[in-house]
Amino acid sequence: MRLVILGAPGAGKGTQAERISREFGIPHVSTGDILRDEIKKGTEYGLKAKEYVEKGKLVPDELVIDIIEGFITGGAAGRGFLLDGFPRNIGQAEKLSAMLERTGKKLDRVINIVVDNDEIVHRLGLRRICRECQKVSIYNKDPGDTCSNCGGTLIKRKDDEEEVIRHRLEVYDKQTYPLVAYYRGKGILTDIDGKGSQEEVTERILESL
Ligand code: AMP
Repeated sequence: MRLVILGAPGAGKGTQAERISREFGIPHVSTGDILRDEIKKGTEYGLKAKEYVEKGKLVPDELVIDIIEGFITGGAAGRGFLLDGFPRNIGQAEKLSAMLERTGKKLDRVINIVVDNDEIVHRLGLRRICRECQKVSIYNKDPGDTCSNCGGTLIKRKDDEEEVIRHRLEVYDKQTYPLVAYYRGKGILTDIDGKGSQEEVTERILESL
């Protein structure tokens, strides 16, 4: 199964991607998680990405395309995958389709999680992630509380501050939202209502696949 998950920041992509990839036994690749990890480790790659990520801007295409290309040509095209956070614009989508074509494969489905803007701003303001394992802990924890996955310290993502959130939503509307029409035109897009509990949303996705 070769899947892409789309949705505005805070729509629940990461959480659902983790659950769905576990269900199908395929790797979950989140470009946002990879970039945050590189930034945390202070690698050259992380240094290049840091300013963009912290301001809520998209990093230059070459940076993420390299990561995805290594992954796809490294055997993932055949084994299956779930991409979360990539593609983020039409150029990246076309690169992805060219990479897959070279391996004789194509995407099976694009899941688009739909949540309205007010709900998104509300959710992102409350989102915390673990400084150690990066797992998202939403809604009910304060910065400084501990992560239920690894016991690490919970922090607020720098790009979850209100003015950065607003900017990320603008970037999403201008650059990423056109992918909804792009994949709908290819007949492989499924809209999923993102309201309700994590379990309810997962159930809707699984039923649609
Ligand atoms: P996310 O965790 O998916 O919300 O991504 C966090 C940040 O990482 C984004 O705001 C961008 O700065 C950067 N990022 C992640 N994926 C991509 C991508 N495919 N293209 C460009 N920038 C990306």
